[in-house]
Amino acid sequence: MEDHPPEYPGGPCLGCGEPWPCLPRQAAMLKEFAKAPNEAITYMGAWVQAGVLELKSRNRPVDPGMSERHLAWIGLLLESQEIMTNLLDPDKSDD
Ligand SMILES: [Zn+2]
Repeated sequence: MEDHPPEYPGGPCLGCGEPWPCLPRQAAMLKEFAKAPNEAITYMGAWVQAGVLELKSRNRPVDPGMSERHLAWIGLLLESQEIMTNLLDPDKSDD
């Protein structure tokens, strides 16, 4: 079984009850998507969309922190990838 899955899109984590993706899930996804941050954007974008629709169908207010919670960690992923690229290929950086 997947660790820390959401109860439903836009809903809480089944593993720990925190808003999804919770920190343990975000940490796991940082690892899962380390080599494919663009896939993470597509994947999490779909979750945000599904979450908005699901909350609407349940007549619940849209969680204002939802987009940030789903997407903010991807910024870390892109940053770390850029750092790794520069480390592995220093000639690529100008000046
Ligand atoms: Zn959790």
